[in-house]
Amino acid sequence: MKRILITNDDGIFSQGIRRLASALGEIAEVLVVAPDREQSAMGHALTLSRPLRMQKIEERWYAVDGTPTDCVNLGVLALMKDHPPDLVCSGINFGLNLGDDVTYSGTVSATFEGTLLGIPSVAFSQEVGEGFSFDAAAAFARRLIEILEGEALPRDLLLNVNVPAGPIQGVSFTRLGRRVYKQSVVENRDPRGRKVYWIAGTPQWDRASGTDWEAVSSGRISVTPLHLDLTYYPGLENFSSLWDKLSALAFPAGAAVKPE
Ligand code: MN
Repeated sequence: MKRILITNDDGIFSQGIRRLASALGEIAEVLVVAPDREQSAMGHALTLSRPLRMQKIEERWYAVDGTPTDCVNLGVLALMKDHPPDLVCSGINFGLNLGDDVTYSGTVSATFEGTLLGIPSVAFSQEVGEGFSFDAAAAFARRLIEILEGEALPRDLLLNVNVPAGPIQGVSFTRLGRRVYKQSVVENRDPRGRKVYWIAGTPQWDRASGTDWEAVSSGRISVTPLHLDLTYYPGLENFSSLWDKLSALAFPAGAAVKPE
């Protein structure tokens, strides 16, 4: 039987993590280590400036006063250190994590951390809209993990799963979509007359085909393979004029090294 570490960014008392833990608990041994309060949009933050506290709230459930990334570290490197999990699962997030937004996402960042620790990881997010429930996402999570159980999983396997609200039309293997930035900053005054700023705006998406956005907006579950290597490989070629200028700079200790 598989051992699965479960975390999230909505907090240990959210409905989505309950549903994920009970769905996966039917087929695996699960351990839940999750933030004690909401940590959405914390990205890949790691707490180094203070010690962390972990509280057992029930059998196999632990709340941490930190981020999702902290929780994965405490789960893998402390609670499960003698017998690491086969899989890290994160979610089910209340809201989608699509395209360019994945780097803001605590849900997805927890799975980045899982793969950095050498453990295949899957993030689950649920669209909130008409006909919303966690039922389809929980059922799909169980089926996906059952399928993965029959596979030899690469240590860097990272899947980002997004489930639409309403009836499910199927599943698509997708790439990340691109956000059309319509974000704005609203300036206002607090009761003492000081300026405050609120980041606002509704995300809009490039309607390109083959993307996670397209799948979800046509009622399909989106499964996107991700990796954490953010290197822009074409840039090593395309930015050659920048390279020429950089390589002309003189350094006392030696010449700059051109990438392979
Ligand atoms: Mn969240």
